[in-house]
Amino acid sequence: MDSGITIAAMDRREFLESSTALAAGALAGRLPFHAPPPMVGIQVGAVSFVDEGTERVLDGLQDMAGVNTLFVASFTYGRGIAGRQLPNQPLPDHGAQKYDADTFHGGNYATPHPQYYRNTPVGPEKAPDLGAYDVLADVIPAAHKRGMTVIAWFEDVLRYTANIAAPGFEKVREVVLSGPESDFACSRNPGTRHFWLGLVEDYLRAYDVDGLMWGSERQGPLGNVLATNHGGAGAGGRLACFCAYCQDAARQRGIDVDRAKAGYTKLAAWAAATSRGQKPADGAFVSFWRLLVDYPEILAWEKLWNDALDDTYRDMYARAHEIAPVKGIGWHIWHNNTFSPFYRAEQDYAAFSQHSDFLKVVMYNLCGGERLAQYVRSANRSIFADLTPDQTLEFTYNVQQFRAGPLGGLSAAALPADYVEHETRRAVTGAGANTKIWPGIDVDIPTAATSHKTQPDDVYQSVKAAIAGGAHGILLSRKYSEMRLDNIRAAGRALRELKLI
Ligand SMILES: [Zn+2]
Repeated sequence: MDSGITIAAMDRREFLESSTALAAGALAGRLPFHAPPPMVGIQVGAVSFVDEGTERVLDGLQDMAGVNTLFVASFTYGRGIAGRQLPNQPLPDHGAQKYDADTFHGGNYATPHPQYYRNTPVGPEKAPDLGAYDVLADVIPAAHKRGMTVIAWFEDVLRYTANIAAPGFEKVREVVLSGPESDFACSRNPGTRHFWLGLVEDYLRAYDVDGLMWGSERQGPLGNVLATNHGGAGAGGRLACFCAYCQDAARQRGIDVDRAKAGYTKLAAWAAATSRGQKPADGAFVSFWRLLVDYPEILAWEKLWNDALDDTYRDMYARAHEIAPVKGIGWHIWHNNTFSPFYRAEQDYAAFSQHSDFLKVVMYNLCGGERLAQYVRSANRSIFADLTPDQTLEFTYNVQQFRAGPLGGLSAAALPADYVEHETRRAVTGAGANTKIWPGIDVDIPTAATSHKTQPDDVYQSVKAAIAGGAHGILLSRKYSEMRLDNIRAAGRALRELKLI
Protein backbone atom coordinates (compact mmCIF):
# COMPACT_ATOMS: atom_id res chain seq x y z
CA MET A 1 0.00 0.00 0.00
CA ASP A 2 2.85 2.41 0.67
CA SER A 3 3.47 4.17 -2.60
CA GLY A 4 6.54 5.94 -1.29
CA ILE A 5 5.58 9.11 -3.15
CA THR A 6 4.64 12.41 -1.69
CA ILE A 7 1.25 13.89 -2.37
CA ALA A 8 1.90 17.15 -0.59
CA ALA A 9 1.68 19.21 -3.77
CA MET A 10 -1.36 17.42 -5.02
CA ASP A 11 -4.92 17.50 -3.86
CA ARG A 12 -5.44 14.32 -1.89
CA ARG A 13 -8.85 13.62 -3.35
CA GLU A 14 -7.45 13.94 -6.87
CA PHE A 15 -4.71 11.56 -5.82
CA LEU A 16 -7.21 9.05 -4.53
CA GLU A 17 -9.31 9.25 -7.66
CA SER A 18 -6.41 8.95 -10.05
CA SER A 19 -4.21 6.60 -8.11
CA THR A 20 -3.09 3.66 -10.18
CA ALA A 21 -2.56 1.83 -6.94
CA LEU A 22 -6.26 2.08 -6.31
CA ALA A 23 -7.15 1.28 -9.88
CA ALA A 24 -5.04 -1.84 -9.62
CA GLY A 25 -7.22 -2.92 -6.74
CA ALA A 26 -4.71 -2.29 -4.02
CA LEU A 27 -7.62 -2.08 -1.62
CA ALA A 28 -8.55 -5.61 -2.67
CA GLY A 29 -12.26 -4.98 -2.76
CA ARG A 30 -12.33 -3.15 0.55
CA LEU A 31 -13.95 0.19 1.04
CA PRO A 32 -11.81 3.19 0.21
CA PHE A 33 -12.26 6.10 2.58
CA HIS A 34 -13.78 8.42 0.05
CA ALA A 35 -16.32 6.34 -1.79
CA PRO A 36 -19.89 5.17 -1.29
CA PRO A 37 -21.56 3.24 0.23
CA PRO A 38 -21.69 5.19 3.48
CA MET A 39 -19.46 4.09 6.28
CA VAL A 40 -21.41 1.92 8.70
CA GLY A 41 -19.16 1.48 11.69
CA ILE A 42 -19.17 0.08 15.17
CA GLN A 43 -16.68 0.36 18.01
CA VAL A 44 -15.72 -3.04 19.33
CA GLY A 45 -13.15 -4.19 21.85
CA ALA A 46 -10.93 -7.25 21.90
CA VAL A 47 -12.88 -9.01 24.62
CA SER A 48 -15.93 -9.37 22.39
CA PHE A 49 -14.02 -11.38 19.78
CA VAL A 50 -12.57 -13.60 22.51
CA ASP A 51 -15.90 -14.07 24.29
CA GLU A 52 -18.08 -14.62 21.24
CA GLY A 53 -15.76 -15.79 18.46
CA THR A 54 -14.53 -13.53 15.68
CA GLU A 55 -16.56 -15.01 12.82
CA ARG A 56 -19.72 -14.99 14.90
CA VAL A 57 -19.27 -11.32 15.84
CA LEU A 58 -18.65 -10.33 12.23
CA ASP A 59 -21.60 -12.40 10.97
CA GLY A 60 -23.86 -10.72 13.48
CA LEU A 61 -22.71 -7.17 12.77
CA GLN A 62 -23.04 -7.59 9.02
CA ASP A 63 -26.43 -9.21 9.38
CA MET A 64 -27.90 -6.86 11.99
CA ALA A 65 -26.81 -3.48 10.68
CA GLY A 66 -24.80 -3.92 7.48
CA VAL A 67 -21.66 -2.93 9.38
CA ASN A 68 -18.80 -2.44 6.91
CA THR A 69 -16.18 -0.84 9.18
CA LEU A 70 -14.84 -2.07 12.52
CA PHE A 71 -13.31 0.46 14.89
CA VAL A 72 -11.30 -1.98 16.96
CA ALA A 73 -10.29 -0.63 20.37
CA SER A 74 -6.59 -1.36 20.14
CA PHE A 75 -5.02 0.86 22.80
CA THR A 76 -6.37 2.38 26.00
CA TYR A 77 -6.11 2.20 29.75
CA GLY A 78 -9.81 3.02 30.06
CA ARG A 79 -12.99 0.98 30.22
CA GLY A 80 -15.05 3.28 28.04
CA ILE A 81 -13.99 1.52 24.84
CA ALA A 82 -12.32 -1.68 26.07
CA GLY A 83 -13.50 -4.50 28.30
CA ARG A 84 -16.95 -5.87 29.03
CA GLN A 85 -20.00 -4.10 30.46
CA LEU A 86 -19.27 -1.93 33.48
CA PRO A 87 -20.21 -3.31 36.91
CA ASN A 88 -23.69 -2.37 38.18
CA GLN A 89 -25.00 -1.99 34.62
CA PRO A 90 -27.28 -4.66 33.11
CA LEU A 91 -25.46 -7.26 31.03
CA PRO A 92 -26.42 -7.16 27.34
CA ASP A 93 -28.00 -10.13 25.57
CA HIS A 94 -24.74 -11.47 24.16
CA GLY A 95 -21.16 -12.00 25.26
CA ALA A 96 -19.80 -13.87 28.25
CA GLN A 97 -22.62 -12.73 30.54
CA LYS A 98 -20.18 -11.58 33.17
CA TYR A 99 -18.26 -8.47 34.21
CA ASP A 100 -14.51 -8.10 34.07
CA ALA A 101 -14.61 -6.41 37.46
CA ASP A 102 -11.17 -6.35 39.02
CA THR A 103 -9.34 -7.93 36.12
CA PHE A 104 -9.31 -4.89 33.82
CA HIS A 105 -5.89 -3.43 33.08
CA GLY A 106 -5.66 -2.03 29.53
CA GLY A 107 -2.71 -1.25 27.28
CA ASN A 108 -2.10 -2.31 23.69
CA TYR A 109 -4.57 -5.02 22.63
CA ALA A 110 -2.40 -5.83 19.61
CA THR A 111 1.31 -6.66 19.95
CA PRO A 112 3.65 -3.71 20.52
CA HIS A 113 6.81 -3.64 18.43
CA PRO A 114 9.51 -2.01 20.59
CA GLN A 115 11.49 -0.54 17.68
CA TYR A 116 8.84 2.17 17.25
CA TYR A 117 9.12 3.46 20.82
CA ARG A 118 12.85 4.24 21.05
CA ASN A 119 12.28 7.98 21.52
CA THR A 120 9.85 7.81 24.40
CA PRO A 121 10.09 6.82 28.06
CA VAL A 122 6.53 5.48 27.83
CA GLY A 123 6.60 1.70 27.55
CA PRO A 124 4.47 0.07 24.84
CA GLU A 125 2.80 -2.38 27.17
CA LYS A 126 0.73 -5.23 25.83
CA ALA A 127 -2.63 -5.33 27.60
CA PRO A 128 -2.45 -8.42 29.81
CA ASP A 129 -6.23 -8.76 30.05
CA LEU A 130 -6.57 -11.38 27.32
CA GLY A 131 -3.23 -13.16 27.49
CA ALA A 132 -1.38 -13.41 24.18
CA TYR A 133 -4.46 -12.54 22.09
CA ASP A 134 -3.67 -9.91 19.40
CA VAL A 135 -6.93 -8.34 18.30
CA LEU A 136 -5.60 -6.78 15.08
CA ALA A 137 -3.79 -9.94 13.96
CA ASP A 138 -7.00 -11.88 14.53
CA VAL A 139 -9.65 -9.52 13.20
CA ILE A 140 -8.02 -7.87 10.17
CA PRO A 141 -7.75 -10.99 7.97
CA ALA A 142 -11.22 -12.18 8.98
CA ALA A 143 -12.73 -8.76 8.24
CA HIS A 144 -10.90 -8.26 4.95
CA LYS A 145 -12.12 -11.63 3.68
CA ARG A 146 -15.63 -10.22 4.02
CA GLY A 147 -14.80 -6.86 2.44
CA MET A 148 -14.95 -5.11 5.81
CA THR A 149 -12.63 -2.23 6.73
CA VAL A 150 -10.67 -2.17 9.99
CA ILE A 151 -9.73 1.05 11.80
CA ALA A 152 -7.36 0.82 14.77
CA TRP A 153 -9.07 2.97 17.43
CA PHE A 154 -7.02 4.30 20.32
CA GLU A 155 -7.32 7.07 22.86
CA ASP A 156 -5.44 9.53 25.00
CA VAL A 157 -5.81 7.45 28.15
CA LEU A 158 -2.51 6.29 29.64
CA ARG A 159 -3.71 5.78 33.17
CA TYR A 160 -6.49 3.58 34.56
CA THR A 161 -6.04 3.93 38.32
CA ALA A 162 -3.41 5.17 40.75
CA ASN A 163 -1.79 1.75 40.45
CA ILE A 164 -2.31 0.98 36.77
CA ALA A 165 -0.85 3.19 34.06
CA ALA A 166 1.41 2.89 31.04
CA PRO A 167 4.99 2.18 32.15
CA GLY A 168 6.84 5.50 32.30
CA PHE A 169 3.62 7.55 32.53
CA GLU A 170 5.04 9.58 35.44
CA LYS A 171 7.80 10.88 33.15
CA VAL A 172 5.31 12.50 30.79
CA ARG A 173 2.54 13.36 33.21
CA GLU A 174 1.09 16.87 33.16
CA VAL A 175 2.36 19.09 35.98
CA VAL A 176 -0.38 20.88 37.91
CA LEU A 177 -0.02 24.37 39.35
CA SER A 178 -2.06 23.37 42.39
CA GLY A 179 -4.76 20.93 43.39
CA PRO A 180 -5.12 17.26 42.44
CA GLU A 181 -2.61 15.63 40.12
CA SER A 182 -3.43 15.20 36.45
CA ASP A 183 -4.52 11.82 35.08
CA PHE A 184 -3.19 12.79 31.67
CA ALA A 185 0.11 13.09 29.84
CA CYS A 186 1.39 16.49 28.67
CA SER A 187 0.75 16.77 24.93
CA ARG A 188 3.82 18.98 24.58
CA ASN A 189 6.23 16.61 26.33
CA PRO A 190 8.30 15.00 23.53
CA GLY A 191 7.97 11.65 25.28
CA THR A 192 4.20 11.80 24.93
CA ARG A 193 4.38 12.93 21.31
CA HIS A 194 6.80 10.17 20.37
CA PHE A 195 4.63 7.60 22.08
CA TRP A 196 1.59 8.47 19.94
CA LEU A 197 3.73 8.70 16.81
CA GLY A 198 5.24 5.32 17.66
CA LEU A 199 1.79 3.81 18.00
CA VAL A 200 0.76 5.30 14.63
CA GLU A 201 3.82 3.77 13.02
CA ASP A 202 3.42 0.45 14.82
CA TYR A 203 -0.19 -0.04 13.69
CA LEU A 204 0.48 1.07 10.12
CA ARG A 205 3.69 -0.90 9.56
CA ALA A 206 2.99 -4.06 11.53
CA TYR A 207 -0.66 -4.51 10.52
CA ASP A 208 -2.74 -4.16 7.38
CA VAL A 209 -5.16 -1.76 9.06
CA ASP A 210 -7.19 0.48 6.75
CA GLY A 211 -6.95 3.53 8.94
CA LEU A 212 -6.57 4.98 12.41
CA MET A 213 -8.78 6.91 14.80
CA TRP A 214 -7.49 8.61 17.95
CA GLY A 215 -9.49 10.43 20.59
CA SER A 216 -8.60 12.87 23.34
CA GLU A 217 -11.33 13.59 25.89
CA ARG A 218 -9.87 16.44 27.89
CA GLN A 219 -9.67 20.22 27.93
CA GLY A 220 -7.25 22.95 28.89
CA PRO A 221 -6.76 24.61 32.27
CA LEU A 222 -9.41 27.31 31.77
CA GLY A 223 -12.26 24.89 31.11
CA ASN A 224 -10.98 22.66 33.87
CA VAL A 225 -10.92 25.40 36.49
CA LEU A 226 -14.35 26.60 35.37
CA ALA A 227 -15.58 22.96 35.49
CA THR A 228 -17.42 23.59 32.23
CA ASN A 229 -17.91 19.95 31.38
CA HIS A 230 -20.14 16.98 32.06
CA GLY A 231 -18.80 14.01 34.03
CA GLY A 232 -16.38 11.47 32.69
CA ALA A 233 -12.65 11.01 32.41
CA GLY A 234 -11.93 14.53 31.19
CA ALA A 235 -13.83 16.16 34.02
CA GLY A 236 -10.96 16.07 36.44
CA GLY A 237 -10.61 19.83 36.82
CA ARG A 238 -6.82 19.66 36.75
CA LEU A 239 -4.91 22.92 36.63
CA ALA A 240 -2.31 21.90 34.05
CA CYS A 241 0.09 21.95 32.38
CA PHE A 242 2.96 23.87 33.96
CA CYS A 243 5.76 21.42 33.13
CA ALA A 244 9.19 22.64 32.01
CA TYR A 245 8.29 22.08 28.33
CA CYS A 246 5.14 24.15 28.61
CA GLN A 247 6.91 26.92 30.55
CA ASP A 248 9.65 27.04 27.89
CA ALA A 249 7.07 27.23 25.12
CA ALA A 250 5.35 30.06 26.98
CA ARG A 251 8.57 32.04 27.31
CA GLN A 252 9.23 31.60 23.60
CA ARG A 253 5.86 33.26 22.97
CA GLY A 254 6.66 36.08 25.37
CA ILE A 255 4.11 34.91 27.95
CA ASP A 256 5.03 35.93 31.49
CA VAL A 257 5.02 32.59 33.31
CA ASP A 258 4.81 34.12 36.78
CA ARG A 259 1.82 36.22 35.81
CA ALA A 260 0.14 33.15 34.30
CA LYS A 261 0.67 31.31 37.58
CA ALA A 262 -0.65 34.28 39.57
CA GLY A 263 -3.70 34.58 37.31
CA TYR A 264 -4.56 30.89 37.56
CA THR A 265 -4.01 30.93 41.32
CA LYS A 266 -6.57 33.73 41.62
CA LEU A 267 -8.90 32.00 39.19
CA ALA A 268 -8.69 28.76 41.19
CA ALA A 269 -9.51 30.69 44.38
CA TRP A 270 -12.45 32.36 42.59
CA ALA A 271 -13.69 28.94 41.41
CA ALA A 272 -13.40 27.40 44.88
CA ALA A 273 -15.31 30.28 46.50
CA THR A 274 -17.98 30.35 43.78
CA SER A 275 -18.55 26.59 44.02
CA ARG A 276 -19.15 27.06 47.77
CA GLY A 277 -21.86 29.60 46.95
CA GLN A 278 -19.80 32.63 47.97
CA LYS A 279 -20.57 35.23 45.35
CA PRO A 280 -18.41 38.35 45.09
CA ALA A 281 -20.24 41.69 45.36
CA ASP A 282 -19.91 42.20 41.60
CA GLY A 283 -21.23 38.71 40.89
CA ALA A 284 -19.51 35.61 39.60
CA PHE A 285 -19.41 36.53 35.93
CA VAL A 286 -18.10 40.08 36.27
CA SER A 287 -15.40 39.04 38.71
CA PHE A 288 -14.38 36.21 36.39
CA TRP A 289 -14.16 38.58 33.44
CA ARG A 290 -12.15 41.06 35.52
CA LEU A 291 -9.60 38.34 36.21
CA LEU A 292 -9.42 37.59 32.51
CA VAL A 293 -8.63 41.18 31.54
CA ASP A 294 -6.27 41.65 34.49
CA TYR A 295 -4.46 38.45 33.57
CA PRO A 296 -4.63 37.87 29.81
CA GLU A 297 -2.03 35.20 30.54
CA ILE A 298 -4.97 32.98 31.61
CA LEU A 299 -6.23 32.80 28.04
CA ALA A 300 -2.69 32.68 26.66
CA TRP A 301 -2.03 29.53 28.72
CA GLU A 302 -5.31 28.00 27.56
CA LYS A 303 -4.20 28.55 23.96
CA LEU A 304 -0.77 27.16 24.76
CA TRP A 305 -2.44 23.98 26.04
CA ASN A 306 -4.67 23.65 22.99
CA ASP A 307 -1.81 24.27 20.60
CA ALA A 308 0.10 21.29 21.98
CA LEU A 309 -2.90 19.05 21.39
CA ASP A 310 -3.44 20.49 17.90
CA ASP A 311 0.23 19.86 17.13
CA THR A 312 -0.29 16.26 18.23
CA TYR A 313 -3.12 15.84 15.71
CA ARG A 314 -1.01 17.44 12.98
CA ASP A 315 2.04 15.32 13.74
CA MET A 316 0.03 12.09 13.86
CA TYR A 317 -1.68 12.96 10.58
CA ALA A 318 1.66 13.73 8.91
CA ARG A 319 3.31 10.55 10.21
CA ALA A 320 0.37 8.39 9.15
CA HIS A 321 0.36 9.82 5.65
CA GLU A 322 4.14 9.51 5.28
CA ILE A 323 3.80 5.82 5.98
CA ALA A 324 0.51 5.12 4.22
CA PRO A 325 -0.65 7.96 1.96
CA VAL A 326 -3.99 6.46 1.00
CA LYS A 327 -5.09 5.23 4.39
CA GLY A 328 -7.23 7.47 6.55
CA ILE A 329 -6.65 9.00 9.95
CA GLY A 330 -9.19 10.98 11.91
CA TRP A 331 -10.37 11.91 15.36
CA HIS A 332 -13.06 11.25 17.93
CA ILE A 333 -14.39 14.61 19.18
CA TRP A 334 -15.39 14.64 22.86
CA HIS A 335 -19.03 15.01 23.90
CA ASN A 336 -18.23 18.22 25.81
CA ASN A 337 -18.39 19.86 22.37
CA THR A 338 -22.18 19.59 22.71
CA PHE A 339 -22.42 21.21 26.13
CA SER A 340 -19.67 23.77 26.68
CA PRO A 341 -19.43 26.77 24.33
CA PHE A 342 -15.89 27.32 25.65
CA TYR A 343 -14.81 23.84 24.60
CA ARG A 344 -16.76 24.05 21.33
CA ALA A 345 -14.93 27.25 20.40
CA GLU A 346 -11.69 25.27 20.57
CA GLN A 347 -13.00 22.47 18.29
CA ASP A 348 -12.88 24.32 14.99
CA TYR A 349 -13.98 21.92 12.25
CA ALA A 350 -12.47 24.07 9.50
CA ALA A 351 -9.10 23.99 11.26
CA PHE A 352 -9.46 20.24 11.85
CA SER A 353 -10.13 19.68 8.16
CA GLN A 354 -6.52 20.63 7.39
CA HIS A 355 -5.31 17.48 9.10
CA SER A 356 -8.24 15.08 9.29
CA ASP A 357 -9.54 12.53 6.81
CA PHE A 358 -12.64 12.13 8.95
CA LEU A 359 -14.15 13.31 12.21
CA LYS A 360 -16.22 11.13 14.48
CA VAL A 361 -18.12 13.86 16.26
CA VAL A 362 -19.76 12.49 19.40
CA MET A 363 -23.52 13.15 19.11
CA TYR A 364 -24.72 10.82 21.82
CA ASN A 365 -28.28 12.06 22.28
CA LEU A 366 -29.50 9.20 24.48
CA CYS A 367 -27.03 9.68 27.32
CA GLY A 368 -26.84 13.32 26.24
CA GLY A 369 -29.72 14.45 28.44
CA GLU A 370 -28.02 13.18 31.57
CA ARG A 371 -24.71 14.67 30.50
CA LEU A 372 -26.22 18.05 29.61
CA ALA A 373 -27.84 18.18 33.05
CA GLN A 374 -24.43 17.40 34.60
CA TYR A 375 -22.81 20.18 32.59
CA VAL A 376 -25.50 22.71 33.52
CA ARG A 377 -25.21 21.96 37.24
CA SER A 378 -21.44 22.18 37.06
CA ALA A 379 -21.31 25.46 35.08
CA ASN A 380 -24.02 26.83 37.35
CA ARG A 381 -21.67 26.49 40.33
CA SER A 382 -19.01 28.44 38.42
CA ILE A 383 -19.07 30.96 35.59
CA PHE A 384 -22.90 30.99 35.45
CA ALA A 385 -23.46 31.14 39.21
CA ASP A 386 -25.37 34.41 38.75
CA LEU A 387 -28.06 32.52 36.82
CA THR A 388 -30.47 29.85 37.97
CA PRO A 389 -29.91 26.31 36.68
CA ASP A 390 -32.89 26.72 34.34
CA GLN A 391 -31.45 29.97 32.99
CA THR A 392 -28.08 28.28 32.52
CA LEU A 393 -29.78 25.56 30.48
CA GLU A 394 -31.69 28.13 28.42
CA PHE A 395 -28.47 30.05 27.75
CA THR A 396 -26.80 26.77 26.72
CA TYR A 397 -29.61 25.89 24.29
CA ASN A 398 -29.35 29.32 22.71
CA VAL A 399 -25.60 29.54 22.26
CA GLN A 400 -25.16 25.84 21.39
CA GLN A 401 -28.05 26.05 18.92
CA PHE A 402 -30.09 23.02 19.79
CA ARG A 403 -32.99 22.49 22.14
CA ALA A 404 -34.36 19.79 24.39
CA GLY A 405 -36.65 19.77 27.39
CA PRO A 406 -36.52 21.43 30.81
CA LEU A 407 -33.80 20.53 33.30
CA GLY A 408 -36.04 18.47 35.56
CA GLY A 409 -36.79 15.75 33.05
CA LEU A 410 -33.68 16.04 30.93
CA SER A 411 -31.83 12.93 32.15
CA ALA A 412 -34.87 10.74 31.72
CA ALA A 413 -35.91 12.21 28.38
CA ALA A 414 -32.57 12.33 26.52
CA LEU A 415 -31.84 14.82 23.73
CA PRO A 416 -34.10 14.63 20.67
CA ALA A 417 -32.95 13.15 17.37
CA ASP A 418 -33.06 16.56 15.70
CA TYR A 419 -30.08 17.52 17.89
CA VAL A 420 -28.17 14.80 15.98
CA GLU A 421 -29.34 16.22 12.66
CA HIS A 422 -28.37 19.75 13.62
CA GLU A 423 -24.95 18.79 14.98
CA THR A 424 -24.28 16.72 11.86
CA ARG A 425 -25.15 19.60 9.57
CA ARG A 426 -22.96 21.96 11.60
CA ALA A 427 -20.02 19.57 11.32
CA VAL A 428 -20.49 18.91 7.60
CA THR A 429 -20.70 22.65 6.92
CA GLY A 430 -17.71 23.46 9.10
CA ALA A 431 -15.38 20.74 7.88
CA GLY A 432 -15.98 21.25 4.16
CA ALA A 433 -15.73 18.81 1.30
CA ASN A 434 -12.53 16.93 2.10
CA THR A 435 -13.27 15.64 5.60
CA LYS A 436 -15.83 12.93 6.17
CA ILE A 437 -18.24 13.39 9.09
CA TRP A 438 -19.21 10.18 10.84
CA PRO A 439 -21.49 11.03 13.77
CA GLY A 440 -21.02 8.91 16.87
CA ILE A 441 -24.42 7.38 17.71
CA ASP A 442 -24.82 6.12 21.28
CA VAL A 443 -26.14 2.65 21.89
CA ASP A 444 -26.59 1.58 25.53
CA ILE A 445 -23.92 3.85 26.99
CA PRO A 446 -24.30 3.39 30.75
CA THR A 447 -26.39 5.99 32.55
CA ALA A 448 -27.87 6.28 36.04
CA ALA A 449 -30.77 3.95 36.84
CA THR A 450 -33.24 6.84 36.62
CA SER A 451 -31.83 8.21 33.34
CA HIS A 452 -32.85 7.33 29.81
CA LYS A 453 -32.00 3.82 28.57
CA THR A 454 -31.53 3.17 24.85
CA GLN A 455 -34.55 1.75 23.01
CA PRO A 456 -34.55 0.43 19.44
CA ASP A 457 -36.66 3.32 18.16
CA ASP A 458 -34.14 5.79 19.64
CA VAL A 459 -31.32 4.32 17.58
CA TYR A 460 -33.52 4.16 14.49
CA GLN A 461 -34.34 7.87 14.86
CA SER A 462 -30.74 8.91 15.60
CA VAL A 463 -29.37 7.12 12.54
CA LYS A 464 -32.04 8.65 10.32
CA ALA A 465 -31.30 12.09 11.77
CA ALA A 466 -27.56 11.75 11.14
CA ILE A 467 -28.15 10.81 7.51
CA ALA A 468 -30.69 13.63 7.12
CA GLY A 469 -28.03 16.02 8.39
CA GLY A 470 -25.68 14.97 5.60
CA ALA A 471 -23.48 12.47 7.45
CA HIS A 472 -21.08 10.39 5.35
CA GLY A 473 -21.66 7.42 7.61
CA ILE A 474 -22.48 6.56 11.20
CA LEU A 475 -20.46 5.07 14.03
CA LEU A 476 -22.27 3.02 16.67
CA SER A 477 -20.61 3.79 19.99
CA ARG A 478 -19.07 3.22 22.34
CA LYS A 479 -18.47 -0.51 22.53
CA TYR A 480 -20.27 -3.57 21.21
CA SER A 481 -19.85 -5.36 24.56
CA GLU A 482 -22.36 -3.02 26.22
CA MET A 483 -24.93 -2.87 23.38
CA ARG A 484 -28.17 -4.84 23.18
CA LEU A 485 -28.72 -6.58 19.86
CA ASP A 486 -32.18 -5.14 19.20
CA ASN A 487 -30.67 -1.68 19.39
CA ILE A 488 -28.00 -2.59 16.83
CA ARG A 489 -30.70 -4.08 14.59
CA ALA A 490 -32.59 -0.79 14.76
CA ALA A 491 -29.64 0.98 13.13
CA GLY A 492 -29.84 -1.59 10.34
CA ARG A 493 -33.58 -1.01 9.98
CA ALA A 494 -33.02 2.73 9.48
CA LEU A 495 -30.21 2.19 6.96
CA ARG A 496 -32.26 -0.38 5.01
CA GLU A 497 -35.24 1.94 4.83
CA LEU A 498 -32.95 4.60 3.45
CA LYS A 499 -31.59 2.01 0.98
CA LEU A 500 -28.05 2.62 2.24
CA ILE A 501 -27.33 -1.03 2.97
ZN1 LIG B 1 3.45 20.34 29.82
